[in-house]
Amino acid sequence: LFARKPFITGNWKLNPSTKDEAVALATGIADSVTADSPGDIGLFVPSPYLETVQKIAGDKFVVGAECVTPETAGAFTGGVSPSMIKSMGIEWALAGHSERRTINKESDDYINSQCKMLIESDMNVVLCIGETLEEFEKGLVDAVCEVQLKKGLAGVSSEEMKQVTIAYEPVWAIGTGKVATPEIAQDVHSICRGILGEMYGEQVAEDTRILYGGSVSPDSVDGLMEKPDIDGTLVGGASLDATSFGRIINFVT
Ligand code: PEP
Repeated sequence: LFARKPFITGNWKLNPSTKDEAVALATGIADSVTADSPGDIGLFVPSPYLETVQKIAGDKFVVGAECVTPETAGAFTGGVSPSMIKSMGIEWALAGHSERRTINKESDDYINSQCKMLIESDMNVVLCIGETLEEFEKGLVDAVCEVQLKKGLAGVSSEEMKQVTIAYEPVWAIGTGKVATPEIAQDVHSICRGILGEMYGEQVAEDTRILYGGSVSPDSVDGLMEKPDIDGTLVGGASLDATSFGRIINFVT
């Protein structure tokens, strides 16, 4: 049915405020995963909650960090390195989320270091890319995605692409309630797959999962997941409600 196994992921950002709430939310999410859930499931959570959520997840979903500091050790106050979380049994992390690009001024080069260090640490990375509203209105979507893919993945080999998932997240759709239409998202996903094809050849392009993120909700998920190049979702707001995220996990096409 699907060319690639769907991958439904959530990103909690700086939520929830306490560990007790994180336990309740993760438990609710784990309860909504059944043998019939159509895809793989992942949850990116604040670093202090990684171990707790990982225990609740069991084999129902994978747990990952929302960002890492691309260093092995040293004077980087506040940093969380790939080796630290790997030693806690965590094998996934996001890189390049638009909030990190904007608020923390993470550059494409820095994001590239994060991707490479996660890959070298035998971990998996979800590289987030996407254009701002201004870039969208100027018709720069393809150019922005090409630059962010090429710079983010510089030095990553075809073989290492097995450890990479892409998330296309138009900045104008993140946290705004303005979900991209399935048609717009499909167009961009297909363009991104074409760029991966130029970079790595047909097979890698065909095998790499490209997720959509930006105000995904129980109402929009089914239409998005019907599109051939949309392999899953990265869900912010709706992943903070177990019922909503449960419905997204169990999407229907
Ligand atoms: C996100 O955090 O990556 C995101 C897409 O957020 P939201 O679903 O709230 O738009």
